[in-house]
Amino acid sequence: MSLIVKDLCARVKDGADILKGVSLEIPKGEVHAVMGPNGSGKSTLSKVLCGHPDYEVTGGTAELDGQDLFSMTPDERSRAGLFLAFQYPVEVPGVTNANFLRAALQARLPQGETVDAVAFYKELRAKMKQLGMDAKFTARAVNEGFSGGEKKRNDILQMLMLQPSYAILDETDSGLDVDALRIVSDGVNAMRAPFRSFMVITHYKRLLDYIRPDVVHVLYQGRIVRTGGFELVERIERDGFDFLKE
Ligand code: ADP
Ligand code: MG
Repeated sequence: MSLIVKDLCARVKDGADILKGVSLEIPKGEVHAVMGPNGSGKSTLSKVLCGHPDYEVTGGTAELDGQDLFSMTPDERSRAGLFLAFQYPVEVPGVTNANFLRAALQARLPQGETVDAVAFYKELRAKMKQLGMDAKFTARAVNEGFSGGEKKRNDILQMLMLQPSYAILDETDSGLDVDALRIVSDGVNAMRAPFRSFMVITHYKRLLDYIRPDVVHVLYQGRIVRTGGFELVERIERDGFDFLKE
């Protein structure tokens, strides 16, 4: 069981090519980091995998546990266990955080079953407490007027509630102070399991010091140009991305 991406090429609809043959495989149970300079296509990769409408796949394949990802709608991908925490989380005015999460969980149940409201709120409050989020965030519209750090925590709350089998975190560390970074990392680490995997996109070693990845990929100009272990993180921290130009 794994997420397998082969020779993936994608572009902005009617625009420039961004991904130029990305291949990677994330087996269940593993945490893979994806690093790379700004503009290399990291967010595009995450959005294409989730079916974002702004992008068009022009070549290659992606498989989730043997299923062809690109023949599935975004909601089918989500129900199949894929989750994306956006680099820039979207605001959903008029929909409260609690109702949003409840509807998302409801959509995962077989027809005829309903989410148990009491159990749902109990779990929601426990997870918010774990993330250091005030209970008032249940009644606020999804991400509306949230600070950068609050949005990132809210993303992790969604992940904790939905329990995806493949979670992609796109720069979830940006905008977090050290304490919040610790809380978010603990949340991710607590979810690590043999039946779950993560793609953690980040620029910084500080997040990966907490969430020690099994494998590190470097994306540069639309391609994975290096794959290795933690030594790649250390090299990037020390030398920046200049060595990729060699
Ligand atoms: P990264 O996340 O690695 O910083 P992105 O995937 O966000 O990189 O962007 C890769 C390149 O694609 C950039 O040059 C960016 O400007 C361009 N790009 C991404 N999305 C769009 C879009 N919706 N419209 C136009 N250009 C885009
Ligand atoms: Mg990005």
